[in-house]
Amino acid sequence: MKAEHRLIVVSNRLPITAVETTPQFQPSSGGLISALVPLRDDSWACWVGSAGAPYEPKLAELLDEWSSTQPCSFAPVFLTAAERASFYLGFSNGVIWPLFHGLPSRCQFETTYWEGYCNANKKFADAVEQVCRPDDFIWVHDYHLMMVAQGLRSRGLSNPIAYFQHIPFPSPDIFETLPWRNEVLRALLCFNLVGFQTVRDRCNFVACLRRCLSQVRVRPMGETLLVRAGEHCAHTGAYPIGVDYEEFARDAAGPTISSGSRAIQNQFPDTQIVLGIDRLDYTKGIPERLIAFEKLLIARPELRGRVNMVQIVVPSREEIPEYNQLRLRIETLISKINGQYSKPGWVPIHYFYRAISRNELIAFYRAAHVALVTPLKDGMNLVAKEFCASRIDNRGVLVLSEFAGAAEELRCGALLVNPHDTETVARVVDLALSMDESEECTRMKSMRSQIRAHDVFHWYRSFRAATEESVLTMEETPIRSLPSPVPGVSHVRLRRAFAGFQFPAPGPGVEGR
Ligand code: UDP
Repeated sequence: MKAEHRLIVVSNRLPITAVETTPQFQPSSGGLISALVPLRDDSWACWVGSAGAPYEPKLAELLDEWSSTQPCSFAPVFLTAAERASFYLGFSNGVIWPLFHGLPSRCQFETTYWEGYCNANKKFADAVEQVCRPDDFIWVHDYHLMMVAQGLRSRGLSNPIAYFQHIPFPSPDIFETLPWRNEVLRALLCFNLVGFQTVRDRCNFVACLRRCLSQVRVRPMGETLLVRAGEHCAHTGAYPIGVDYEEFARDAAGPTISSGSRAIQNQFPDTQIVLGIDRLDYTKGIPERLIAFEKLLIARPELRGRVNMVQIVVPSREEIPEYNQLRLRIETLISKINGQYSKPGWVPIHYFYRAISRNELIAFYRAAHVALVTPLKDGMNLVAKEFCASRIDNRGVLVLSEFAGAAEELRCGALLVNPHDTETVARVVDLALSMDESEECTRMKSMRSQIRAHDVFHWYRSFRAATEESVLTMEETPIRSLPSPVPGVSHVRLRRAFAGFQFPAPGPGVEGR
């Protein structure tokens, strides 16, 4: 893909969402949208995604009008309530989300969900086909849309199509519980490039291909791997997503944030703040974190009155009963802990159940002594990176789950924890609260320089370059005649490329195991 190529971005949600069925819009929330929005440049021709409401002529007209005034137009996909139930709530969030976060027991493997998912992916492919020109590069985002390239290829489109998965990819033992595992893998191999957040996810993807499909061949090609299963073939690589470091650092230094951060600190005089910010989700480990905080208060009673936890929970997927049950569990735990340990003038946990503004968010990042980011599993976790990018004072300690994608890059400065081990989390928070200033600064500086060098623009450039490379390589190397081993790749380079990756023992390669 060259810079002059037009870009078609495809994601489940447009960056604006219709409010109910009325013709009003609000910005969509979440990590994916906040990562993509600052990347928009002149090459972005069209963004295809759902408008968050069923078709309604007035809504479509308004969206069309609004879109025509934007540099990057929007092509809305209107899903009916039934389509949304099976595709979005059913398969995407009732099957793929828990499965890919390592929780197969939460999955509801309903055939109707799978059918809804395939049909909705066809609808997205239809929308892409309508706006796409032959030279356009198509960039598909995330687990809702794994079948889109297959749909476009079956319509005869030969454009470069890349896929980036923002969530983890599971190990074969978990992935193979999916009844439609082979269909999903073959559909992913219809993309030119399949990108993941971490090397671990990419390794899991390759291991799943080897476990589930037959005739799987893997060849290193520069920074990526060329994977082939029968007639299907794609490049795959790890591209950890970043944040807009400069913007966070600039905003954090501004007068509004500085006074906001001072105001927060004044609300908590003589206490240290332990901060948690998460979307409401069972993968974020919020109850486990609250239990760890309680264990800290039990183990170190002298901290009562000297430390506060601020937990911000952003409402999410409220129409799913499990999410409401989780909210209830969180609120019950908070009220139990506050009821047990509060004393006049001090309440241990301050809880917000709402989205906060960007300014408030950065002010909290700046006011905190410790950021407690302990998901049970997370693709990347942007909150961890945003916290560091905002710490222009080089202060603050990041306690980070080893199961967040961000741990691969931030182990240089973060205190890594197993979020299930609540006693150790409590001990590590204690360590973080008493860390001496020079160690705090050294750790924070090291994380900040990593985040600065690998910001969201670096991610965008590397992903675009890798897509271009993958298209050129495929043009130059017809897949069916791919020689083995690849000429020009020495055994030393092969060994380096696979360093740290344990290939599973070659299996029988029988499809449908
Ligand atoms: N965020 C937000 N509204 C809020 C609080 C946070 O939009 O009230 C943003 C936050 O700045 C971050 C994103 O939501 O960019 C959360 O991304 P993360 O990768 O941590 O988790 P995700 O929600 O994508 O699972």
